[in-house]
Amino acid sequence: MQEDQKLRSNERVAEIGPADDASLRFIGTIRTPWSDRKDCPRQARDDGPECQLIVDPAWKDALDGLEDYDRIEVLYWLDRSRRDLITQSPRNDGRTVGTFALRSPVRPNPIGTSNVRLVGIEGSVITVRSLDCLDGTPLLDIKPDRCAYSPKALPKTGTLDQPL
Ligand code: SAM
Repeated sequence: MQEDQKLRSNERVAEIGPADDASLRFIGTIRTPWSDRKDCPRQARDDGPECQLIVDPAWKDALDGLEDYDRIEVLYWLDRSRRDLITQSPRNDGRTVGTFALRSPVRPNPIGTSNVRLVGIEGSVITVRSLDCLDGTPLLDIKPDRCAYSPKALPKTGTLDQPL
């Protein structure tokens, strides 16, 4: 068993069968500087290195308008996580909390989310600063930052009061 698959004290595993995944569709791949978890930040930081979202060219036109936003939400599939822990001991000190009280990558459906700064878009490649996932992590979705409905420019058609 790999080191990061071993249980820590007080950690418990759910008695569940193999995952019956919903039919998610990966829309691309994330390129980051990190291939090892020990080097990977625990959360995205605005002062981290630039990372690239390599969107499948089939979705290029789906990016139209995204350049108007300063910040975007990125959703990704933390594909190298185990998925069966009910409780976890993040600091490996015997203290445990429930999986759903953590932002740990270890969860039944290992979806990661980050609100990141949009640096630029060239074709179907989006540069952001920064992310917290391993190089090659599958990309699930991209959304404009919903909380601050503040595109840098007015939408190409419609107005801020009456968006399309
Ligand atoms: N920002 C996301 C969130 O809050 O939903 C993810 C936070 S999670 C704590 C980030 C950690 O997940 C990284 O530090 C790394 O240890 C781990 N990780 C990153 N990419 C991963 C991948 N592809 N598979 C499994 N674990 C990954």
